[in-house]
Amino acid sequence: MTLKIALPNKGRLEKPATELFKQAGFRFERTERSLAVPVSDAPIELLYVRAKDVVELVADGAADLGVTGLDLTREARAPVDTALELGFGRCSLVAAAPEGSGITAIEDFAGMRVATSHPRSVDGFFTDKGIPVTTVPLAGSVEVAPRLDVADAVVDLVSSGSTMLINGLKPVAELLSSQAILIERTGFARSETSQTVITMLDAAMTARRKRYLVMNCHLDAIDSIAPIIPGIAAPTVVPLTAGDMVAVHSVVDASDVWHVLPRLKAAGATGILVLPVQQVLA
Ligand code: AMP
Repeated sequence: MTLKIALPNKGRLEKPATELFKQAGFRFERTERSLAVPVSDAPIELLYVRAKDVVELVADGAADLGVTGLDLTREARAPVDTALELGFGRCSLVAAAPEGSGITAIEDFAGMRVATSHPRSVDGFFTDKGIPVTTVPLAGSVEVAPRLDVADAVVDLVSSGSTMLINGLKPVAELLSSQAILIERTGFARSETSQTVITMLDAAMTARRKRYLVMNCHLDAIDSIAPIIPGIAAPTVVPLTAGDMVAVHSVVDASDVWHVLPRLKAAGATGILVLPVQQVLA
């Protein structure tokens, strides 16, 4: 049976989703406007659809797995679960009000018209808090709604917050912290292929946070170098063909590289190479 995976065909999640699948080792050629793309050497087909539709396709079983935003999944209230957090497409669903509007706390939203492209999430949030609002559903350009006087405030997705700032809006509260996720239908019995896909995507994501270090050192320096780079189990030490020199290989967290390198150098390492890692299966 061919495993069907729905991926976003445009927008912010499109490129990073496709890149992650390529890094995970899946080989495919997506041509312009192709909806269904077969993966070479694997019983997998990628279905390119809108990020919003990914949720529906997975919920009704037309696709087995899908990549979409957590915000869209919550908004759809569909029977899907997060199989894996993918670490890209990070953003927040934020309640914001025009500067100088006098709205500074979430309670001040009472009686306000709130423009949003996430009306269900907004209804749920304010109902839970017992704050009555009128949602004004909009498909896009939510941040201009107060200026057009179709709303008093907004609930919108932000990543840097600069769009809101430009439009004279200041954030008041965060409703949801979102990122891209891999989803599966609730209660879905994972096939071997879908488990493999999840494992390989996880391996690619872990690899992004790692760097492979290769260096040379004198045999005497190994005892001071090894504790600096313990790696997954322990560093690999390979003899060089000449002298009392060895090559030391290890994996470190990408975030540690900047302070590990000077310590390695001080401990006697030379010719240090820092390489990207494609996949990590711990
Ligand atoms: P699209 O509208 O197709 O670009 O996709 C929008 C999805 O990208 C949203 O549902 C979020 O999951 C995600 N996203 C990440 N950052 C942002 C942002 N700053 N604004 C809107 N959507 C974002």
